Amino acid sequence: MSTTCVVGILWGDEGKGKVIDYLAAEADYVVRFGGGHNAGHTLILPSGKCVLHLVPSGIVHDHTVNVIGNGVVVDPVHLVGEIARLRERGLSIDAGRNLLVSERAHVIVAAHRAQDQWAEQQRGKGRIGTTGRGIGPAYADRAGRLGLRVGDLIRPASLRTALERFIGEKNAWFHAAGLPGLDANELFDGLSATGETLRPAIVDAGAVLRDAHKAGKRILIEGAQGCLLDVEHGTYPFVTSSHASTGGAFSGTGLPPHGMRVIGVCKAYATRVGEGPFPTELKNETGDRLRTAGNEFGSTTGRPRRCGWFDAVAVRYAGELSGAAELTVTNLDVLKGFDPLPIAVAYRLADGRRLDRFPAFDLAEVQPEFETLPGFQEDLRQVRRFQDLPVAARRYIETIELRTGLPVRTISVGPERQQVILR
Ligand code: GDP
Repeated sequence: MSTTCVVGILWGDEGKGKVIDYLAAEADYVVRFGGGHNAGHTLILPSGKCVLHLVPSGIVHDHTVNVIGNGVVVDPVHLVGEIARLRERGLSIDAGRNLLVSERAHVIVAAHRAQDQWAEQQRGKGRIGTTGRGIGPAYADRAGRLGLRVGDLIRPASLRTALERFIGEKNAWFHAAGLPGLDANELFDGLSATGETLRPAIVDAGAVLRDAHKAGKRILIEGAQGCLLDVEHGTYPFVTSSHASTGGAFSGTGLPPHGMRVIGVCKAYATRVGEGPFPTELKNETGDRLRTAGNEFGSTTGRPRRCGWFDAVAVRYAGELSGAAELTVTNLDVLKGFDPLPIAVAYRLADGRRLDRFPAFDLAEVQPEFETLPGFQEDLRQVRRFQDLPVAARRYIETIELRTGLPVRTISVGPERQQVILR
């Protein structure tokens, strides 16, 4: 199968960047299909740490073409800045050669950020925990037929028409919310200028990818966030505003729904950033220890991540939903010294009913039922073969396979490229 899709299984931050980095060595195209610069992948390269937000992780391999697909919402000012930062870091980015942006992708402007932050403030206690970067409002405008597209940035007449529509409706809303209105000329000038910088990269990316697929090129699709943040299948309303599961990989790239190998990535435990239900969360000292051991602070926002035990109910659900044929389990090294190691295998509702499927409602009330396994004390970062893992670590992985119904083909035992066990 020439197309592989890597998706996060829970709420993001599973270490997809590292997985994509080593898979990209064998890919011709690396494609992002959703989210915006609220996502972030951290790569630990031989040359040091590299954090990516919008640019696909394949950019560190010079032979790959990196595509920002139509399903992504693009803040063009951020993108220009990210390209400049990556170039300063010594990466070669040649717009039109190894970086393409879909002309159909929607654009985030400052007004979206203002709207995002305003809405989050209004929600008060019911806040979602968005990054305030305008992602949600840009997707809402796309669905509301108000949006600006990347292709507009290099087509003055089209940009004028799009802005007229956008500003008419936005200003009515902004005035009602007591926010300052938008100026069409100012927006036009700013967007045209960034459009000029990005011009060589702006293409019909869907057509490029379909041609590549027909020609048998190896396409690697990288998910952002995770299946449980999917706007429809996730823990609504505490979700992102796009389709973060595999369904989004087709609509967000323009590739037809042909067979693809789906790899689900999850940590050896669970984390979540922002608000929303999290059945196996540890709101205690063990949770704090996991956060410190795993350095669980967001790569984009620095926000501390909530930490908890491995949740086989959630992983099973997301595995089915995403079509994952296998799991990559990351951060197994982090569990060193945690003993015992509980794995959630079912949930119990307040009225005593047992659930072994992940529910759409009542998730905040469920109590997980755990199977408890012995922990291990050894440092795993130098281990490269499954049979060299301590017995307890092997048993832990085998129990994950049993309880999720998915084979664990790859285990990551540290942030660096070579710290990986392939089975
Ligand atoms: P992504 O958005 O899914 O790519 O996840 P992030 O990049 O935000 O977070 C993953 C973090 O975990 C990064 O800092 C990685 O360097 C680090 N990481 C990845 N795999 C491992 C692993 O197996 N062990 C440890 N200790 N850290 C890892």
